[in-house]
Parts: sequence; structure tokens; C-alpha cells
Amino acid sequence: MNDLIKKDMLLYSDIIKDDHPDLRQKSLPANIPLSNEEINVLKLMNDYLWNSYDNEIVEKYKLRPGVGLAAPQIGILKKMFCILAYDEKGDFHNYCIINPKIISHSEEKTYLETGEGCLSVDKTVNGLVHRYRRIKASVYLYDFETQELISTVLKLEGYLAIIFQHEYDHLYGKLFYDRINKENPFFIPENSHPVIFSPQDE
Ligand SMILES: [Zn+2]
Repeated sequence: MNDLIKKDMLLYSDIIKDDHPDLRQKSLPANIPLSNEEINVLKLMNDYLWNSYDNEIVEKYKLRPGVGLAAPQIGILKKMFCILAYDEKGDFHNYCIINPKIISHSEEKTYLETGEGCLSVDKTVNGLVHRYRRIKASVYLYDFETQELISTVLKLEGYLAIIFQHEYDHLYGKLFYDRINKENPFFIPENSHPVIFSPQDE
């Protein structure tokens, strides 16, 4: 573990960028039960995502907002990531995920029409990333309110499944642009359909 965990909050500058070799490493499983250091790391990551939704904090600390953050992105090679996002129906989700394993997935794929972004990638990379539309993963979830770690099977689809797979890739040293078709970045396979976000009331 590094000095980061002594911090109170993560800044955008704490997130390593895609020229850093750690982002190409495979992460190791976290301890079960989690060590206090690992819980601190999860808290820092989850707080960064919560802060992303607070315009004042975003302005003040010049944060780049995100919907997911994986431990390798702050140089900690442990299988842990957090997700904080509204799905395409407008429902809110927050997960702190530890030692995930995708156990099954649909044949059908899905993608974001705008492409994907990443807090570790400063530049815009054009192209589509096709991911499984539905996934089933065995995970541990950590709940900060109850301080409980539970073992469960998570079923996700659409936008949440995309975020999960993006973060999961970080644990194996993969970045989203590795998955863009090199010859034809906007190629759409027959079995892939875009995520459709329902309009939100203001
Ligand atoms: Zn990323």
C-alpha cells in the first residue's frame, strides 16, 4: 500500500494515467475479511465518486467526475472497485465490489453510443466498446453503513453491466480502448445494441 491511504480525500491528480505501468498489471485478491487499509482505500474511492456528484466540490478541487473507480487507478493492485451511477431507467446504484468474478454472461452485447471514457485516460478515444449486455458475477460487497462484507451474486445489465466490465478490466490491466476495433472503430456486431437512456425529468 502507498501513502495515499493516509489522505482524507482523493484528487484527480491522485489517479494514475494510462502511461503508468501499474495500469497494465494484474491485481491480487483483497483479504477476506478486508484489512483496515483496504477498507480505507474503498472509502477513498467511493468518496471520490460521491464528490463527483457535488458541483461545489467538483469546482473547488477541480475533480473530473466519474461513475466508477478501480484500485489500480490509484496505484493499488487489489481486486476492488466502486460504482456510483444512475442506470438507464434513472435508478441510482452504489456498489463497493471486492474480488469479483464474472461467472456467466449473455451472448448479446451492448455499447454506449458516445463511446467510453476513463479517469485514467485524458484524451478522447473515438470508437465503440462492445460488452456483454447481461452479466452474473460472484462478488463481495462492502457496506459502509453496516460495515458488513457480504458474499453474493450480482446480476447486472445494460449501463451498469458496462461500468462493471470496464472496472473489472482494470483489475486485469486492460483499458477500454484495447477493445475498440482497430480497423473499424465504429463497427457494430449484429448481436450488439446500444444502451438507451430514458429521458429524465429535470
Ligand atoms: Zn477506467
